[in-house]
Amino acid sequence: CGIFGIVGNAEASNLTYLGLHALQHRGQESAGIVSSDGSVLRAHRQMGLVADIFDAPVLAGLPGQAAIGHVRYSTAGGSALKNAQPIFVQYAGGQCAIAHNGNLVNAAELKEQLEADGAIFQSDADTEVIMHLLARSKQATFEQKLVEALRRVKGAYSLLVLTENKLVAVRDPMGIRPLVLGRLKEGAYVLASETTALDLIEAEVVRELEPGEMLVIENGVMRTSRPFEEPKRLAQCIFEHVYFARPDSSLFGKNVYEVRKRMGMQLAREQPADADLVIAVPDSGVAAAIGFSQQSGIPYDVGLIRSHYVGRTFIEPQQSIRHFGVKLKLSAVRQVLKGKRVVVVDDSIVRGTTSRKIVKMIKAAGAVEVHLRISSPPTKWPCYYGIDTPSRQELIAATHTTDEIAKYVTADSLGYISLEGLGEAVGDPKREKFCSACFSGQYLMGELTAPEADVKL
Ligand code: 5GP
Ligand code: SF4
Ligand code: MG
Repeated sequence: CGIFGIVGNAEASNLTYLGLHALQHRGQESAGIVSSDGSVLRAHRQMGLVADIFDAPVLAGLPGQAAIGHVRYSTAGGSALKNAQPIFVQYAGGQCAIAHNGNLVNAAELKEQLEADGAIFQSDADTEVIMHLLARSKQATFEQKLVEALRRVKGAYSLLVLTENKLVAVRDPMGIRPLVLGRLKEGAYVLASETTALDLIEAEVVRELEPGEMLVIENGVMRTSRPFEEPKRLAQCIFEHVYFARPDSSLFGKNVYEVRKRMGMQLAREQPADADLVIAVPDSGVAAAIGFSQQSGIPYDVGLIRSHYVGRTFIEPQQSIRHFGVKLKLSAVRQVLKGKRVVVVDDSIVRGTTSRKIVKMIKAAGAVEVHLRISSPPTKWPCYYGIDTPSRQELIAATHTTDEIAKYVTADSLGYISLEGLGEAVGDPKREKFCSACFSGQYLMGELTAPEADVKL
């Protein structure tokens, strides 16, 4: 998911709309904005894309100097309006809205306890647990209530919380999901999942929130604190750099495009191929393919064209739509591929079904050899921290060797970057600051391996 918030500007909801536009790649199922005029919060949430949901009259109905927004794709809870965010409630303490990026790993357990205690949940989303814990807290101030609630949840959360007179931003102690602070010239504070949203509204990037940091902005004044226990280590999501974030964004201290290009260069060193040209699977493979080409000296060309009128196939929740997605989304350029030995670079193989269709498409266009190169290691484990990977059984690399996968996707050769090489590319060779559990199986909240380890492969 993607989150955006702003406080201290009369155009708050219009700017949030623009910010969500820039974050659309992080979620395409639903979107919402909640604004505050200082005494009343107003919400608008709908299924669909940002551009289709909001127009001038809708935004005019969201007045005030502060707003938060959310674009969603489902990792916890189904794809339905009741799960759209920001969540917005009225409780004994007043009005409150929450926008959440990430996934809580103990939400089911907490929900069970809360329900046993009489709580009535309005959605299936893990985020609602935070709201219930907050509303039930006996602490004196809003911030104390929020901290008490967050101390009970485990997992990934970058959060924006809006009340009548405050905007609070929090990043979980392991720093799993990104969150960046910016500032407009006129003085408003802005928060966003990615810097590309700040760039769009011409806000200056101030800095990323620290893992475990909480910012409170009230009456134009910003306070910072670190209310949580220090974690054993950081766990910034390496897959943000591999696939999820937009290449023009900088996150976890590095520009995504440059990191992806380095992944491609490393891949070329580790998995060279004898070929006439390098092509990318657009858009996610482009930066790595350019890196591969520069490192190997094999010319880069455009062998696949992407339709810009279909979304990210990965984000389509239904297998049936994904199936059609490939041809709808990509087509081969025969004149480029005919008679050529081609290196094809993509970011990841998940089920293998897309890759198989792409390889077949490239061969049908006349390529004589296809050498598939992947800028992440084999995806063997599901993510519990906010990226929608399927179950272990569906992950082709969990049940097949690289040779078997090559055969399945009908590639003449297949090579993945190593985990060590990926660590190098993100500037953390020992992977002390990054989570890479979907590749390594080393979940940083330990107990998660247990149920998955039992899966029959
Ligand atoms: P596959 O060959 O595994 O079907 O698809 C590979 C391509 O689609 C990659 O570009 C990958 O980013 C994307 N993809 C397809 N389905 C999923 C999914 O369920 N999760 C993730 N993370 N990526 C997917
Ligand atoms: Fe990111 Fe993978 Fe870790 Fe999930 S398991 S947070 S996708 S690195
Ligand atoms: Mg892709």
